[in-house]
Amino acid sequence: MSTNDSTYEVYAIRYAHHPRRASENFLGGDPHDGPMPMDYFVWAIVGVQRTFVVDCGFDAEMARKRGRQLVRTPADGLKTIGIDPAAVRDVIVTHMHYDHAGCLDMFPSAKYHVQDREMAFCTGRLMCHEHARIPFEAGDVVTMVRKIFEGRVEFHDGDDELAPGVTIHRVGGHSMGLQVVRVRTRRGWVVLASDASHYYANMEQGRPYPILYNVGDLLEGFNTLRRLAESPAHIIPGHDPLVLVRYPAARAGLEGVAVRVDAELVGE
Ligand SMILES: [Zn+2]
Ligand SMILES: [Zn+2]
Repeated sequence: MSTNDSTYEVYAIRYAHHPRRASENFLGGDPHDGPMPMDYFVWAIVGVQRTFVVDCGFDAEMARKRGRQLVRTPADGLKTIGIDPAAVRDVIVTHMHYDHAGCLDMFPSAKYHVQDREMAFCTGRLMCHEHARIPFEAGDVVTMVRKIFEGRVEFHDGDDELAPGVTIHRVGGHSMGLQVVRVRTRRGWVVLASDASHYYANMEQGRPYPILYNVGDLLEGFNTLRRLAESPAHIIPGHDPLVLVRYPAARAGLEGVAVRVDAELVGE
């Protein structure tokens, strides 16, 4: 297999924003509280033969309901880098939270990759607890259940290979069945952490984000990210605005919109 066949371009595409304080981003708050805004991303893994989209984002109605600022629809975000959602065949859903599983229907031709435990979690007894339901939307869960009945969901249990150079790994922690994605790129193994680490600071300082299923799994997940990635600089956190600063724009004009995380770092 040639290098071209087995390495991928990897994009982070920003679709929403939420101004907030640091105390909201760490379990137990933050003694140096100050502004620490959150960005929302979808990701794309583009190879010679196959393209994978990682997560689906949310739509304008959900942005209004949840008080988030939608800066572009996830579909428009994908189009900025030349991906037509209608043509996408594989969507990896890292977990079923509203900001990752909200626009499932934008991919009419896709198969969805989820972990057994995530679907068991969001359709099971723990959803009887109001606290556990907070990051989920019943509509998203129902939509995924319909995809199951359409034969369009592929379940995974733990680690799996989706293609040469693209593997998924359950880390749990933040949600029961959260999975991260490891991709072979021109600079080595890049890991899309999604919410295994919302910000660089969560994993670098060992401080969990407050929405948790299991704190032990979350802390171990930080180690798993470091084990899977070529270096700590190859881990892409799920919600950190710094990702847009550290990596080059996907092309001229897409600064702050879409960056190439398979490229060498350019920012601070
Ligand atoms: Zn989440
Ligand atoms: Zn999230």
